[in-house]
Amino acid sequence: MRRQRKTKILATLGPASNTPQMMRALFEAGVDVFRINMSHTDHAMLTRMTGDLRALSKEVGRPIGILIDLQGPKIRLGTIPGGTRMLKDQEQVRLVLGESSDNPLEIPIPHPEIFQAIKQKHALLIDDGKVRLRLLKKADTYADAIVEVAGEIKNRKGVNMPNTLLPLSAMTPKDRADLDAALAIGVDWIALSFVQRPEDVAELKHIVAGRAGVLAKIEKPKALESLEGILELADALMVARGDLGVEMPLEAVPGLQKRIVRAARKAGKPVVVATQMLESMIQSPTPTRAEVSDVATAIYDSADAVMLSAESASGAWPVEAVQTMDRIARQVEQDPTYQAVIDAQRLPPDATTADAIMAAVHEVTGTIQARAIICWTKTGSTALRAARERSAAPIIAVTPSIETARKLSLVWGLHCLQSEEIHSLDEMVNRAIVFAEADGFAVKGENVVITGGVPLGVTGTTNMLRVAIVGDRG
Ligand code: PGA
Ligand code: MN
Repeated sequence: MRRQRKTKILATLGPASNTPQMMRALFEAGVDVFRINMSHTDHAMLTRMTGDLRALSKEVGRPIGILIDLQGPKIRLGTIPGGTRMLKDQEQVRLVLGESSDNPLEIPIPHPEIFQAIKQKHALLIDDGKVRLRLLKKADTYADAIVEVAGEIKNRKGVNMPNTLLPLSAMTPKDRADLDAALAIGVDWIALSFVQRPEDVAELKHIVAGRAGVLAKIEKPKALESLEGILELADALMVARGDLGVEMPLEAVPGLQKRIVRAARKAGKPVVVATQMLESMIQSPTPTRAEVSDVATAIYDSADAVMLSAESASGAWPVEAVQTMDRIARQVEQDPTYQAVIDAQRLPPDATTADAIMAAVHEVTGTIQARAIICWTKTGSTALRAARERSAAPIIAVTPSIETARKLSLVWGLHCLQSEEIHSLDEMVNRAIVFAEADGFAVKGENVVITGGVPLGVTGTTNMLRVAIVGDRG
């Protein structure tokens, strides 16, 4: 079984899709990696869903990635006297530290960190930015602000503070418990919300200790200020456009998407474009033209994966949403403009042997129109460098580690296979040819390009490129 596209599809599981039957239907429709959102999942459910996904992977004989998305801290209003309140334009309001207040003129917020960190002129956004306040002055336990965008506020609505560096870890005690549960089960990716600084990623990496890939969700302006430092530590990024679009002007998001995707591409780390990609398909079996363009744009940018959230988790048309993404990806990738756009953004290799080999692979596959690149990889790092070239030929990433195969299923262009260790160069070549033929990448007489490292079985040694013809042996 092979996908007819290079862009990967990441789909969120939820009440509309968390049965084994639906998981299978979604996989068949095109899902490469499943996302479990810990904002809406308890540990019993987590165990059940991961178990079902591992069983599905066995059944279909393909590695399937699992990404666990940690909720992160969420700042909320306390209980407002009366439950709701209409805030008028240019009205001055007082925010107070506490769960509730007896004074009908006060708005309680139960987070002391806010009163420590907020500064004059910083914005406070309530309910996904529907209401906007600007800070006038503050003390330790209260703050005065002016209403810049009027609207109704309600109990427990979320608060975003785009200008403020909040002295909060990206992981709450709930996130720590969720993380421990996920690592005990064994998952492929952990996504971290509310990343503000490289230190947030470092903290998670330290705990994960190589047991899963760490994906940093870029959803705060503070994260954009230290994108390079975050990217250095993270194994992957997500353009988390939901929160990004609340904390930044909406019209800034498309440009930021391009910037984040390019930075990750340059580093050779997978990047996911997420949120509201096919939003109208929550209710409708067909997308809007604008949504199709949005998905297509992410694919033209050669993001590694596009993501479904509520469309697959709680919508009425999860399978159709995946099929739609699959169709868009296949169509875009066949468009002659696509390869031209990608070639125009071609990245120079880093000064390493592996990158030099991969740059050569790119040239060779292009020149002889090779049907596939077969990349022997242990930790996956060589396959990531191969994918970074964005060559026209699909890449078969062969690894002895099932964990590596699953993790790499998020990456652009990789068809991942687990295989036993090899013991000779002949075996490396012969087996590569068998895989390419068996999974429908090449037929007798066609060229494939094989990369690997000698001596065999040592990690980080990719130093060899070999052209082979299907049907030949040795
Ligand atoms: P969320 O993250 O849906 O978990 O908030 C994605 C986003 O903010 O876009
Ligand atoms: Mn978010």
